Parts: sequence; C-alpha cells; structure tokens
Amino acid sequence: MDEIVALLEKQRTFFQKGKTKELQFRLTQLQKLKRIILKYENEILEALKKDLNKTEFEAYMTEIGMVLDEISFVSKNLKNWVKPEYVKTPLAQFLSSSKIYSEPYGVVLILAPWNYPFQLAIEPLIGAIAAGNCAIIKPSEESSYTSKIIEHIINEAFKTEYISIIQGGREASEVLLEQKFDYIFFTGSVAVGRIVMEKASKHLTPVSLELGGKSPCIVDETANLRLAAKRIIWGKFLNAGQTCVAPDYLFVHREVKMELLLLMKHYIKKFYGADPSNNTKFPKIINQKHFHRLTNLLEGSNILIGGQSNVQSNQIAPTILDKVTWDSPVMQDEIFGPILPVLEFDQIQEVVTQINQHPKPLALYYFTNHKSRERKLLKHTSFGGGCINDTIVHLATAHMPFGGVGDSGMGGYHGKASFDTFSHKKSILKKSNLLDIGLRYPPYQNDLKWLKVWLK
Ligand code: NAD
Repeated sequence: MDEIVALLEKQRTFFQKGKTKELQFRLTQLQKLKRIILKYENEILEALKKDLNKTEFEAYMTEIGMVLDEISFVSKNLKNWVKPEYVKTPLAQFLSSSKIYSEPYGVVLILAPWNYPFQLAIEPLIGAIAAGNCAIIKPSEESSYTSKIIEHIINEAFKTEYISIIQGGREASEVLLEQKFDYIFFTGSVAVGRIVMEKASKHLTPVSLELGGKSPCIVDETANLRLAAKRIIWGKFLNAGQTCVAPDYLFVHREVKMELLLLMKHYIKKFYGADPSNNTKFPKIINQKHFHRLTNLLEGSNILIGGQSNVQSNQIAPTILDKVTWDSPVMQDEIFGPILPVLEFDQIQEVVTQINQHPKPLALYYFTNHKSRERKLLKHTSFGGGCINDTIVHLATAHMPFGGVGDSGMGGYHGKASFDTFSHKKSILKKSNLLDIGLRYPPYQNDLKWLKVWLK
C-alpha cells in the first residue's frame, strides 16, 4: 500500500516537471520501447509459450508484431497529432481564433488481462506514452511468465518515476484502484469492469473499459461457405478461443448448416490434426479453473465435432456443439474457450431480434454476399466492431478505433484513437483586443432583437 502511494507521488512529481510533454521525449521513449522488445523477443516468445502454449508464429502475429507495428505507426504520425488543431470560430466571437490542444492526463493506470498478456499491457502503454503521460501497469497474475518479462523490460527501459509495473492479483488491483489516477485503462471481464468504474467514480477518474461478451458470427445461404468455414475456424480457435473478439457462437442459415459444418470439420482437421487435444502446438487453457469451467460446459451437450480434453496439458480440442438454445448453459456467459455452439435461422430478421434481446456484443461477424441484408444488419444491431466475411482482423489495424459499446465496454484505441484516448482535448478561444462588441455586457438595453440575429 505505502509502496504504491509513494510510487504514485513520485510519478506525479515527475509529470509536473513537464518532460513527458516534449514531442522528442515521447518519440525517444517509443523507440526505446521498440528496441527493448526486439532485444527480448525470444524471452517474450518463451514466456507466451509457458503461459499459454502459443507457437512462435501465433505469438508474433498477435502480440509482438502487433505491438511493434503500432509503435511504428504512432511514431510516424505523432508529430502531426500533437499539433493544436485549428477549428472555426462562430461569427458572434469576431475577432478570435480557436484551437484544440491535446494534453496528457497525467498519471494513468493500465490494468491488463492474461489472454494476450503482452499485447494488452503494451498496446495501451504506447498510447499513454504518445500522449505524454506517466503510467503504472498491472499485468495479469494468471500469465505470470509474461508478466515477469514485462516487468523486466519496463524496468530496464524506463525509470520508475515515468513508467513502472506493479505485480499482483486482485488485492494489488484493489489498492491501485483506491488511489487517484488521472485516467484508468482497463481490459478484462465485464464483472471486474463494473468494479473498476465504481472505484473510478469516487475520484471522478475517466475510464476506458475494454471488456468482453458473447460475439455472434452469422453465416447466411449466400455466403462463400468454404471461406467462411476457414475464417471462422481460424478466428474461433486462435489462442484456443481465449480471445475477447472470438466468435462466441454461430448463427447459420438452416439451408447451409450441414454443408458449413462439414467444411468446418475439414478445416479443424487440416489446421489442428486428428486429435488437437494432443497437439503440442495448440494453445492451452490458462489454468485449471478455466479448464474445468469449459469442460463442465461440455457435460450433457450435443457434441458434433471435438470434445476431447487433456487435463495434463490443459488442452481442449476445438469443439462444435449442436442443438443449442438460448437456455443452454453454454449460452449464458462469454465462453472464452475452444467451444462453438451453433444456432439456426431462416430469416435475418430473427437474428437481428435475438441479438438485440441480449447485451451489446464486442464484435459481430457476418458472412454474406447479400448487400441489402448486410446493410440491414449493420443498421439495426449495435456492437463494438466487426467484419463482413471475416473474423477478428478488424482489430489488426491502426486506422480504426477498437473497443466495445454498452456491456462490452467504452472507449476505443489503436493508432490515433489511442493518442486521443490518453489525451484531454483542451479547447482554447483566443480573443483579439482590437475589437470589443458591447452587445453581451449588462445593463441589457433593447438589444434582444440583435441577439436573435446572432443566435438562431
Ligand atoms: P479479469 O477481469 O478477471 O482481470 C483483468 C484484470 O483485472 C487483471 O489484471 C486482474 O488482476 C484484475 N482483477 C481481477 N479481479 C479484480 C477485482 N475484483 N478488482 C480489481 N481488479 C481485479 O479478466 P481476465 O480473466 O484476465 O480476462 C478475460 C476477460 O477479458 C474476458 O471477459 C475477455 O473478453 C476480456 N478481454 C477483453 C479485451 C478487449 O480488448 N475488449 C481483450 C482481452 C480480454
């Protein structure tokens, strides 16, 4: 507790010195971060292997590579983003100019989860550095190897008065959340997201909540079924389904259901082999608690494909469940594992209605070649973001904000959106002293008719 209070005080004092506000300082720190990640690339890959059995390819694609790419993008554009933005001024304020300044919040807290433990701790940090903040990161206690290497690289690259790590679980988070930060960036579950927002409200601290939920994946009868099957299997079973934007469940048109399922079976075998629960290259479930939570979901279910599990290696094979309804246990919460339940539909309107009866999802995927249905679905459902004819990849771009809405979270980041998230937008109107229109000053004469000319 005392240690955290002292650290926060130290960061506050450092922030007040104004160093972090200099563009060159921010760019130098981003390059330092990039260099240290490259230096410890092998150690990061090893840690991700130990925590989640990620292959080097998957770990580079979804964690290290994404982070390096984000640093390059932000570094290239930061000079333009930090400039004050000139905007128009209403005629009523003649003679003035207006500018929006992006200023850092101050000391920010980043709370990260375990599923992409490296990327989800470092990606927000890039935004925090770019915007000129100091930061304290608390990585997840569940992915302990990755959390250790994050601590090592952050301590080697930065002074603790600028960026530092606090390790620990729930207790450490609770102590951190008692403190007054200037911004809190949380990635994790809906339940903990609520706690974070409640604690933040005590200090009126603004928050970003990057949460989860049940993200639907829809396939209609006009879709390219082969590609749909391939892209769904990839997106669902990446990191063994422990991905916030993984398709949580499948909605398939009754006419093409069997054909799609056969193709999915084909791709599961092609990607992961005949018995993926013994595939040493398939990611594992993070811990025993989650392993048992997931295998319990399989009890009494109608398993169409997969279903094998290996308690020694904590692996569960890619599994597809049939004869599922909204009352099935697997449909009550976010699955967050390699299990894909299948629901059927006849009309896209049924899908729209059912999605709208549930909390707003983080992602939605629609496989179709029908333009007006695509427009209808996008217009009448609300969700964080998603893809038409693909899964997951909408988040792998620095050109669009990534985030949830409603129960799936608030606030977006990646690229410019990260810079904006970690910046307060300070609006300044600068008035000339050459002219001073008297209309607004009391005592008010019979000037209302003039006021109505200006304000209508
Ligand atoms: P979690 O909410 O259990 O933990 C997230 C962080 O909060 C961890 O650092 C943890 O130590 C801390 N924490 C846990 N309990 C706490 C408490 N009571 N008070 C304060 N802090 C607490 O989430 P998780 O299990 O690590 O991650 C899985 C969840 O995260 C899933 O719901 C997933 O969808 C979501 N997620 C969302 C995104 C996104 O970008 N939207 C990305 C990854 C994961």
